[in-house]
Amino acid sequence: MSEAGAAAGPPVERAATGPAATGPAAAETVAAKPRATVVALDVGGTSMKGAVVDAGHTVRARRSFPTPVADGPDAVIDQIGTAFEALTSEAVGLGLAAPSAAGLVVPGIVDEERGVAVVAANVGWRDAPLASVLGARLGIPVALGHDVRAGGLAENVLGAGVGAENALFIALGTGIAASCIVDGRPIAAGGYAGEVGHVSVDPEGEPCPCGGRGCLERVASAAGVARRYTVRSGIEVAGSAEVATRVRAGDPIARAVWDEALAALVTVLHTTVTLLGPEVVVVGGGLAEAEDLMVGPLEVQLDKRLTFQRRPRVVRAALGDQAGCLGAALLAWRASGQRVAP
Ligand SMILES: [Zn+2]
Repeated sequence: MSEAGAAAGPPVERAATGPAATGPAAAETVAAKPRATVVALDVGGTSMKGAVVDAGHTVRARRSFPTPVADGPDAVIDQIGTAFEALTSEAVGLGLAAPSAAGLVVPGIVDEERGVAVVAANVGWRDAPLASVLGARLGIPVALGHDVRAGGLAENVLGAGVGAENALFIALGTGIAASCIVDGRPIAAGGYAGEVGHVSVDPEGEPCPCGGRGCLERVASAAGVARRYTVRSGIEVAGSAEVATRVRAGDPIARAVWDEALAALVTVLHTTVTLLGPEVVVVGGGLAEAEDLMVGPLEVQLDKRLTFQRRPRVVRAALGDQAGCLGAALLAWRASGQRVAP
């Protein structure tokens, strides 16, 4: 978005195309003042994580808000505006500068260039022009991004993938999605890139809500692993962490479910690595928390399958559940016309 500002940044910042932003964007990029801030919001299906972030990428205030999905998409959009206004008041109350831009990241298909949330099953909107609607309400530029792509950007600029011009970030949470950075450029494809959770690993496999069969995320998401364990064992578990505990305790059903998830992930990663040639694969989401059972084995098994391809490092994400919010802040800085380091 800003040539001058990007010149001093790492490769991903230099080549990245900025998201759509509306509002009184500065014509030229200037260095951010020490007290400068942006506000960031990561919208999920049940709650929104908000933050006030300064020019050193430090989170100065953090606040959560409910996502009123049951009240419809207009209510969610109104709540996003209210959340940004509350975060703005927090920044000013802390003696910081009023935020110069807002970064908003949401799930689903997101067209960053146009600032439009195309579709999100769990929030219910369709073709919602969030950047322009919220920009008009807040009077500052609003950058819209996709939650996982923004998380991947944050890991690439501030987290586990720093310095990689070619990086794959894969989030193994309720679903599975990926963010791909190739030659320093995040791939968006109008919002359709990165949906590796819906690559079929078994054409005869179980149906997926997307309409497909045997999708990767049915087998290898944190939610999928927990559900498959319960179906086979008859034992209810709170989540994938409990399945990991049972793997460590020698439960053969837990081991089988876990190994099937690993095998499916290796198959899809093998294809993805062959296609995109990443130097690093950053693994995030709930399933990556069992690092010794997931991230390490993924690297070993992937390495065995690769022949001529570049062999990527496979590492656990460093920013945890803050990645989306920090990524939203990076998008906001780009929209603000102010330069921040790195
Ligand atoms: Zn699917």
